[in-house]
This record gives sequence, C-alpha cells and structure tokens, in this order.
Amino acid sequence: MLTVLLGIFVFLLAVIGASVGSFLNVVIWRVPEKMSLTSPPSHCPKCSSPVRWFDNVPVFSWFILRGKCRDCKEPISWRYPLVEASSCLVALVVSWALLFGSWVGWNSQAFFWEDYALWMSSNAETVDANRNFGDEQKNEQLENSSLMFLSSEDNFLALLRSTSALAITWLLVVDVALMLGFVGWDRSFSPKSLIFTSIVVLFIALLVVFLINDSDKCLERSGIFISSAILGALGPVVCFPFLASNIRLESAVLGAVWGVCSGYYFAFPGSLILCLLSHFLYKKINRQVFGLAVFYGTTTLLLLECVVMA
Ligand SMILES: [Zn+2]
Repeated sequence: MLTVLLGIFVFLLAVIGASVGSFLNVVIWRVPEKMSLTSPPSHCPKCSSPVRWFDNVPVFSWFILRGKCRDCKEPISWRYPLVEASSCLVALVVSWALLFGSWVGWNSQAFFWEDYALWMSSNAETVDANRNFGDEQKNEQLENSSLMFLSSEDNFLALLRSTSALAITWLLVVDVALMLGFVGWDRSFSPKSLIFTSIVVLFIALLVVFLINDSDKCLERSGIFISSAILGALGPVVCFPFLASNIRLESAVLGAVWGVCSGYYFAFPGSLILCLLSHFLYKKINRQVFGLAVFYGTTTLLLLECVVMA
C-alpha cells in the first residue's frame, strides 16, 4: 500500500512538473512580447492552425509529431519538449530527494522521509543523535520505528501533505530560474512583470516553509531559508560592477533562487561562481545564461546529493 501511494505521489509530481513546463513555454514566448497568456489559444506560429488537445501532451506529443506541425509540417522548436522535460526532471529529482535522499535545500533534515516520520513521532534532536552512519542495528531500529509511525493513516497523510506542499513549492522556485533562463537566453533580460512574479513565488515558498513546520521549528527553518536567499543574492550583488544595469535585479533574484535551492553553505560561493561564469559566457556567445546555469546547476547538485546519499 505504501509503495503504491509513493508511486502515485512520484507520478503526480512528474505530471505537475511537465505541465508547469508546458505553461512556462507559453510564458517564455508570450510575456516578453506583451501578448495575452490565454488568447489566442495555442496555435502553430506558421500556419496558425490551433493545437489539438491530444497534440498538447507535454514532451510526448512533440516526439509523436516528430517535431513537426500536424497541419503544415513546419518544424516545431525543440525548446518546447526541452522546457517540459526539464521541469518534469526536476519534479522527479525533488521527489527522489524528498523520499530517499537528504533535503539539503532548505536544510530541513527533518523532511528526509524517514527522519521526518521520526521527528514527528519524537523530536528532531533524538533523530540527529540517533542517525549513526555505519551503525546498522541502530539505523534499522530507526527505520522500524518510522515505519510503525507511518502505519497510522493520519500520520501518513499528514506526512504526504507536507511533503507534497514542499515538493510543489520547490518545483515552482526552481522553475523561476528555468523561466528567467530561457527569456534571458532569447532577449538578454526579462520584463519587470516576470521578475516581480519570481519574487512573489519566493515569498510563497518562504510562507510554505514557515507554515509547514511545527511551531518550535518554523522560525528556525524560515531563518535558514531567508539567510540562504540573502547569501545567494549576494553573489550577483558582488558582481554588479560587471553587470548591465537592466539585469542586476534579475540576477539578484536568480542568486536568491540558487541560494534557497542549493542550501546555506553553497549559496554564496555557488551563485558567485555561476554569475561570473555566465558573465564570461555572455561576452563569448552574447546570451545571458545565468538563469539556465542556476536551473541546471541546482538540478545537478540535487541529483548528486541523491546519488551520494543512496
Ligand atoms: Zn502549422
């Protein structure tokens, strides 16, 4: 039963990830052009024929259509499936990290599936003290008590609720980088409306982190979240003398995204290195790549974490 529910959880997250990616495609193309997000509905840019619902399935449809419009056979950009697949991949990595890895990002060890169960059943200090690498007997005891805790339906649902909220929030935060990344790639800087939306998403994430923890932990976790965001934003701020004035705010927001997703320790050095690297690349290829560097960098870091912890 537990396995089936976890399977459904991962599957749903992947679907949400791909769908958010599909929506971001629309945002990336239309918002900088000051076009409406809803009208006209999705259509082929060449022959203007509307996209049928069955041709609008993220990732799959592009491959089924072999990257060509059903009506006029003009090629459809590979960017569409790339954005959808990237967002889907992050959802999968996040659910992997939540279920089986350690949750570096918001430094919430307690959200490590097993630890969280234990934490809810006892208290975090005992979990930290008892988690003993190499001591298999102790670890097995921990595993058993967390399974026992999860066998209560109420506990399990509470855990699933908070895990889902965290996973979706994480996905939204990191997808901010995907969105700003591709807009920056196309046009060198993002419209103010997108930067403002990104800041709002960061605040929503902070609110979720605050609300989801029990009272004694919420201030501590929120504090870690805020300081990671500030440390991350500091990387690009240090680079301000090199950066064009119209990308400064955007770069600071991307630095904050990097900070909250990569965790306290990686926040500043990571965003500083990525920002300098992106600036260097901009000189070479004349494309802003900081957003994409933050998105794919975060994903890689989380993936590495999962692999190391597995
Ligand atoms: Zn067409």
